[in-house]
Amino acid sequence: MSPIVNSVTPQAAIEQAENRHSNTFLRLKKKLERSVGEAIGDYNMIGDGDTVMVCVSGGKDSYTLLSCLLALRERAPVDFRIVAMNLDQKQPGFPDHILPAYFESIGVEYRIVTEDTYSIVKDKIPEGKTTCSLCSRLRRGIIYRTAAEIGATRIALGHHRDDMLETLFLNMFFGGKIKAMPPKLVSDDGKHMVIRPLAYCTESDIARFARSMDFPIIPCNLCGSQENAQRKHIKAMLQSWAREHPGRIESLATSLKNVVPSHLADQKLFDFVGVDRNTTLDEGDIAFDPQPIPEGNGGVIRLFSGQ
Ligand code: SF4
Repeated sequence: MSPIVNSVTPQAAIEQAENRHSNTFLRLKKKLERSVGEAIGDYNMIGDGDTVMVCVSGGKDSYTLLSCLLALRERAPVDFRIVAMNLDQKQPGFPDHILPAYFESIGVEYRIVTEDTYSIVKDKIPEGKTTCSLCSRLRRGIIYRTAAEIGATRIALGHHRDDMLETLFLNMFFGGKIKAMPPKLVSDDGKHMVIRPLAYCTESDIARFARSMDFPIIPCNLCGSQENAQRKHIKAMLQSWAREHPGRIESLATSLKNVVPSHLADQKLFDFVGVDRNTTLDEGDIAFDPQPIPEGNGGVIRLFSGQ
């Protein structure tokens, strides 16, 4: 396996450093930090006195998350502690020197946890079967245990807006559920609060930021597992929509925050059986109205032709 280093030439390194002072980069940095700040505010993710354990895998998303949280802490009206955490799962070729060196270089408090979950997974799962569900169950247990050890009141994960949308479609296409990834959730035992401060950030902004910051990225395929084929397919579908229909992905993301239970069909969310003449619907009676669909350009198209 080739060593994992930043393969940039000295000239490229100079350009990257210059980049970090360009207006474009500063605008991008501000945009990401503003989006993170908004998500934190909207969902009350972090409060005064919290200890936030930021899970850093060595991928672009978690580096960006840590960077934004550190920047926001400088000017936040509340005081909170940040502890960067990495779990070394002993995957073959994992460069265990990179993250400690990076954390030291930026002066953040950190905890590295080493647990050979790779061998457990290889031992328990037959060759050719998917290993991700056992691997992530083991990882979750270790993360929760570590959070308790360091007294973390929040566990921050690097999932972003596009992860949330991909999950939504995965669940609809294959799980028969309208369900995405929540920006904030509590663990089953009620002991841990998990937050996703990148919930409003796009993957493309994060990728551009990570490139300019020259984060020492660790590849995410060291375990040998392939990215879920269906997730890949959905990612490609969303990317082609983004190219061909400007504004569609933004509208989808907004829809996650605008659910109208009385206009779906879930009896657990809305008492359809009990509807009577006095029931007021969230968006009124539109049963016989043409369904207007806002267009990207602010106009309106009609759902049915001829209207
Ligand atoms: S891709 Fe590899 S490291 Fe990630 S959950 Fe699956 S088995 Fe674990």
